[in-house]
Amino acid sequence: MKLSALYQIFLDCNEVTTDSRNCPDGSLFIALKGESFNGNAFARQALNDGCAFAVIDESTYAVEGDKRYILVDNCLETLQQLANYHRRQLGTRIIGITGTNGKTTTKELISTVLSQSYNVLYTQGNLNNHIGVPTTLLRLKAEHDLAVIEMGANHQGEIRFLCNIAEPDYGIITNVGKAHLEGFGSFEGVIKTKGELYDFLRKKENSTVFIHNDNSYLMNIASGLNLIRYGNDNELYINGKVTGNSPYLTFEWKAGKDGEFHDVATQLIGEYNFPNALAAVTIGHYFGVEPNGIDKALAGYVPQNNRSQLKKTIDNTLIIDAYNANPTSMMAALENFRNMQVPHKMLILGDMRELGADSLMEHQRIVDFIKESNFEKVIVVGAQFAAAQHSFTTYPNAQALIQALQTQKPQNYTILIKGSNGIKLSSIIDYL
Ligand code: ATP
Ligand code: MG
Repeated sequence: MKLSALYQIFLDCNEVTTDSRNCPDGSLFIALKGESFNGNAFARQALNDGCAFAVIDESTYAVEGDKRYILVDNCLETLQQLANYHRRQLGTRIIGITGTNGKTTTKELISTVLSQSYNVLYTQGNLNNHIGVPTTLLRLKAEHDLAVIEMGANHQGEIRFLCNIAEPDYGIITNVGKAHLEGFGSFEGVIKTKGELYDFLRKKENSTVFIHNDNSYLMNIASGLNLIRYGNDNELYINGKVTGNSPYLTFEWKAGKDGEFHDVATQLIGEYNFPNALAAVTIGHYFGVEPNGIDKALAGYVPQNNRSQLKKTIDNTLIIDAYNANPTSMMAALENFRNMQVPHKMLILGDMRELGADSLMEHQRIVDFIKESNFEKVIVVGAQFAAAQHSFTTYPNAQALIQALQTQKPQNYTILIKGSNGIKLSSIIDYL
């Protein structure tokens, strides 16, 4: 079937699903394959449960004579092509966002700010890969004014690939740092991959890039682009700085040289969220959101999913950042915590995953930094931290730590909890 014909069917269906457990009436099912499942096998059930059509790529799963089965060569490619086709048909202005750390937070902040004045479609949660990006685009409707699309990558070429699907008009790289070094090969590989967003926009007419002026890695690869700059300099489109040192980020910003200062008190933990928030100010301002609306949106935003949350239990105060960790974000969190004016600081850190040959060295760097700081108590979890040189309390995994916490629970500490998601430090929260 031609793409344009399938597109008509998609428009009639109104909605796409790739999950046979979620089959809205009249929707279009697209059968994807994973490591341990074959969506083709669920096509019949999807049709029974309410889907109007099912796109499959293995003919044996079609029922003879049933016109609701649509056979294609490759369902994943079809999903991606359909998304790009739809994106082009609607012509919605799209802001693409990538970077090593802070993509989801920045995406949420930008979307919250823009929603003050616009109908905005944005990536749900962390659906930022070769499936998440097209599925997000297929949720675009004519009534959306703008879309904010998060793009993630573990390997070179992946951002280019996602850009070719989403065709963003605007772009922002939150930052570049050391993560997924196994997949990228090196830090240079990281920069190159994130830079694929700039490469795409360089070729696109009337494109604009929002850029953190204080980040020299980004500024170095941004030649030939139309730049809107934010950071700590009076000359910039938006400038601002952190104010105060409570656990929650507070900052001030102004537009241009002559703007008025605005004070914003956020509910975000960690100074490393400052560039994320300033990016949202910049993009909101650029699209004409009233300054007071920008401030209100940022003050009202509450982070989700263990991304930098503050939680007071009966015994302790927890700074929970257990959703991911890499050397850059770990160091940012530790520096922030070190500067925090609170008594009895304790660290519970889990391994940083996917660092390849650099792993031991990067864990040792973190350990050395901790040794030079004066945290009252330090616990590390995982084989990589265990292998570094130190005398901190060490557990092989979160389960072992939980067992220890059940017999001896810390009291009256402020505890920073951070590690890769795979270490499952979020499971210890109930025991603190
Ligand atoms: P993922 O790769 O999982 O999609 P992400 O880029 O979407 O991650 P977030 O989920 O927004 O990033 O934030 C993850 C963690 O990264 C935060 O909890 C924090 O520790 C760290 N982080 C966020 N922003 C920054 C920043 N600007 N600089 C350094 N670290 C940051
Ligand atoms: Mg994310």
